[in-house]
Amino acid sequence: MSFWLRLLFPPRCLGCEQLLLAERSVWCAACSVSLEDNQQNGVEPAFPLTRAWAPYVHGGALAQAVHRFKYQQRSDLARPLGDLLAATSAAFVAPCDFVVPIPLHHQRFRERGFDQSTLLAAQLCANTGTPLRVEWLQRIRNTPRQVELDHSQRQHNVDGAFQAQHARGHLCLVDDVFTTGATARAAADALLHAGAETVRVLTLSTMPKHSMS
Ligand SMILES: [Zn+2]
Repeated sequence: MSFWLRLLFPPRCLGCEQLLLAERSVWCAACSVSLEDNQQNGVEPAFPLTRAWAPYVHGGALAQAVHRFKYQQRSDLARPLGDLLAATSAAFVAPCDFVVPIPLHHQRFRERGFDQSTLLAAQLCANTGTPLRVEWLQRIRNTPRQVELDHSQRQHNVDGAFQAQHARGHLCLVDDVFTTGATARAAADALLHAGAETVRVLTLSTMPKHSMS
């Protein structure tokens, strides 16, 4: 960032929004220690269809940033969060021909005014150069929020929720948070059915294991 841009828009911590004096990180020192690297090594054993990976465990400053991004109209956070996703996950995306975001239903999109996964995926692609294919996947049912449901309800909730078309090649699905994987699995099934060869799933964070049922 140039001197004048920094003066006009001094960088703020993604977690707590305090001003950052040094530009080395998007996090302040306190928020930085709250981040938990995901040790899953790129394999999600509860999700045999594809590889799924997230650079972080959901919590701390990252959860605050994602919450602000999704629920407080902060679409401007797509850029630093997408840059963070690219910086941590470029190797995971590298074998993929295309990136496809897991979209909101159009009603939810109208309520929020933006689609967080699409903005994240677009910023990821701006970094990695991977082509983005938003039009290949639609959410055709407006399902209740997954967080309000138990495990079996979650799988049932997203059955038939997605419709895919024209998909081909090796795809990387992008979403903000990986919970049980039910949503990602339904989206991946639709893309595979529509002609994709393989689908892997990338999210910023994954729920801690003890909270998954
Ligand atoms: Zn902070």
